[in-house]
Amino acid sequence: MTYEQLLEKAFTQLPELSEEKVDFKIPEVDSLVQGSKTIVKNISQIADVARRDKAEIAKYLTKELAAPITYDDQKLTILAKISQNVLNEKVKRYFELYIICKECHKPDTHVLLTDRGYTTIVCEACGAKYTVKNS
Ligand SMILES: [Zn+2]
Repeated sequence: MTYEQLLEKAFTQLPELSEEKVDFKIPEVDSLVQGSKTIVKNISQIADVARRDKAEIAKYLTKELAAPITYDDQKLTILAKISQNVLNEKVKRYFELYIICKECHKPDTHVLLTDRGYTTIVCEACGAKYTVKNS
């Protein structure tokens, strides 16, 4: 084996860098269409990662999808046929707007208050405080 080959081998064997620190992963929606309804099966997981109430996420999705939504401990039910791609787009936007800090890009935020169509968000990681206009 030549030196170059050894070098190449060493590089390809380097462990992959941990992604955890680099960027936060927005959870993927696990949904299925059942008749004229759409079931989101992992709403609890999404709410856990977001550290928000399911009610808040349901409210956001109701507006965005213009469809009535119900939820219980396990799942969220949308009374319309919505594709998983569309749901992922909406959830991604929700995280970008309300969860991920605009300053430090960490997901360690909480809602300070919601007033007249605006939501004030505080970041626990860097202390940033900013207001988002609700869609
Ligand atoms: Zn921050």
